[in-house]
Amino acid sequence: MTGTVETALPSREVIAEVQAAGGGVFRLCYQCGKCDVVCPWNHVRTFSMRRIIREAGLGMPEIESEDLWLCTTCGTCTEACPRGVKQIELGVALRRIATEYGVFPAAVRAVPGVASSLRADGNPLSEDRGKRADWAAGLGVRPFTEGMEVLYFVGCYPSYDPRLKKVAVATARILEQAGVDFGILGTRENCCGESIRKAGNEEVYRTLARENIKTFIDHGVRRILVSSPHCYETFKKEYPEFMVHFEVVHIAPYLNTLLEEGRLRIAGTYGKKVAYHDPCYLGRHNGIYDEPRAVLGRIAGLELVEMVDCREHSLCCGGGGGGIWKDTPMSERLSNLRVKQAREAGAAVLATSCPYCITNFEESRLTLDYADVLEIKDIVEIVHEALL
Ligand code: SF4
Ligand code: SF4
Repeated sequence: MTGTVETALPSREVIAEVQAAGGGVFRLCYQCGKCDVVCPWNHVRTFSMRRIIREAGLGMPEIESEDLWLCTTCGTCTEACPRGVKQIELGVALRRIATEYGVFPAAVRAVPGVASSLRADGNPLSEDRGKRADWAAGLGVRPFTEGMEVLYFVGCYPSYDPRLKKVAVATARILEQAGVDFGILGTRENCCGESIRKAGNEEVYRTLARENIKTFIDHGVRRILVSSPHCYETFKKEYPEFMVHFEVVHIAPYLNTLLEEGRLRIAGTYGKKVAYHDPCYLGRHNGIYDEPRAVLGRIAGLELVEMVDCREHSLCCGGGGGGIWKDTPMSERLSNLRVKQAREAGAAVLATSCPYCITNFEESRLTLDYADVLEIKDIVEIVHEALL
């Protein structure tokens, strides 16, 4: 397609396309604007989901606009909407149309390359599939075989990213210490596909999901442990669209269970002030707020503090919905605001439980020159340090 959608296609045709792509719910919207009031983007720039909904309803979505790619799918507006409008579904539907026509504004020029890397190597980082399990070298982590208690599905960033590999290593060491019979899929693990789906590429998502499902079934997988709330979300709520159901558990509540059952004991201390950041896909999307705090609360010496926006009102890091692959100007980074909130709360450590949050916070910590005053940690890293 060339030119704008509104000039290229008649309105009814565009509305039908949006509906077919999953965005028909926009008709419920009565333009109150509550979504815009709560949307985190309006802390750093102007952005109106209400306007996008209105334009889509009129059959005139601005498919070429960067605004279409701003929504991080954080879920704040969905909770605030009095009419039950599914803004995220609409936004993803519009991105599907943009993807279908190959329209990618400059800020998301990386997305087609990400899709190619996912197709070719099962990860968004242009990394070699053969190196997916390199993080586990020398740790004695076994390949998953049928009958094991848990499949540890590591995810892309903890498999490849140098910072996030530390999270995978800490997780494996904790599982070993707790006596959990677990294995990994190694090179047979593919990206879960959640983020590329939210970025509008349904075809790549479905390919990844089908391959993962086949691998899970072939290996007799029953219980899947994940480090990322994005893997959790898609395995739990989206893979059932393929008529399969696996038990899925995120590491934060799993750690709490291991501690409650006495399989894991934290003997050491962690004498620091810690603020916990609720990742959107663990908190708002899945209601997991208490368990990560309970884990941190069990560590002697650790002082837990809350930031201004916490739990249901947690401020998005900017990484969801494909935001992790988007170019965002320095002055518009939501993670910068979050890191500042952690300092304002007096924290020496900003803890969370999501690879995207850690990636964005680490960058903001350096950008804001907080390297000497604030550490960024996954809660598994804190638990692992306290075990030693
Ligand atoms: S809060 Fe809901 S009803 Fe109000 S403008 Fe936003 S989407 Fe529409
Ligand atoms: S999901 Fe989050 S980022 Fe997207 S429009 Fe709603 S509040 Fe804004």
